[in-house]
Amino acid sequence: MNIVLLGAPGSGKGTQAQPLSVRYKTPHISTGDIFREEMDQMTPLGMKVQEYVNSGRLVPDALVLEVMTQRLNQPDCEKGFLLDGFPRTVAQAEALDDYLRSAKRPLDKVLYLSLSEKEVIRRLSSRRQCVRCGKVYNLMTQPPQIADHCDVDSAGLFQRDDDRPETIEKRLRVFNDLTEPLIAYYHGLDMLETIPADKPVSEVAQIVIKILDTFPRT
Ligand code: ADP
Ligand code: AMP
Repeated sequence: MNIVLLGAPGSGKGTQAQPLSVRYKTPHISTGDIFREEMDQMTPLGMKVQEYVNSGRLVPDALVLEVMTQRLNQPDCEKGFLLDGFPRTVAQAEALDDYLRSAKRPLDKVLYLSLSEKEVIRRLSSRRQCVRCGKVYNLMTQPPQIADHCDVDSAGLFQRDDDRPETIEKRLRVFNDLTEPLIAYYHGLDMLETIPADKPVSEVAQIVIKILDTFPRT
């Protein structure tokens, strides 16, 4: 099953992708996670993308495509993938189409998590993450059992640099300008499924599962 999760930053793509990846035994590939990992390890790629990621700008298409082509060529993607945060521009979407067409692995669906800007800002400002295992929380909607500590490993929680108010604003502008056109793009290809993402996590998951369960499992 080849799926793209599309949506504004904070619309819940990662939250939904995590359990879906387990349910459908399909790798969850988040370009944001890949870049943050490279930045943490201070690799040459990490150093290159750092200024873009921390300031809320998009990493240049050519670099993103190089990273994603390599990732999609890995054997674990042969039976499918759940893409989160990629593609993010029409140029990336076209390049993905070309790649998948030549690999004879077309996309099955694009799930668009639709959420108001007000709710996106609310969710992003209260997002926190475990420093050790990366589990994502929300101080308002998905709080840890013990304040500031991860439920899984008790490590501390941190706020992403790009979840600070000025950067959130910038990322939303970038989404509106460069990523939102993908909604029309995939609608035109009859691939888009719009999911109301303003519901609790489990309700959104049920809606998504109902759609994905109609696909044959590999
Ligand atoms: P994205 O991957 O799209 O950037 P996340 O999955 O990280 O978004 O979710 C953003 C924030 O909103 C996180 O703090 C997460 O815990 C919270 N969240 C995700 N889905 C929901 C939901 N359906 N209802 C309330 N809060 C949510
Ligand atoms: P995310 O975790 O998806 O919110 O992504 C965090 C940041 O990583 C973004 O604000 C961009 O700077 C960068 N990024 C992630 N995915 C892409 C992409 N497909 N194209 C360009 N930049 C990206």
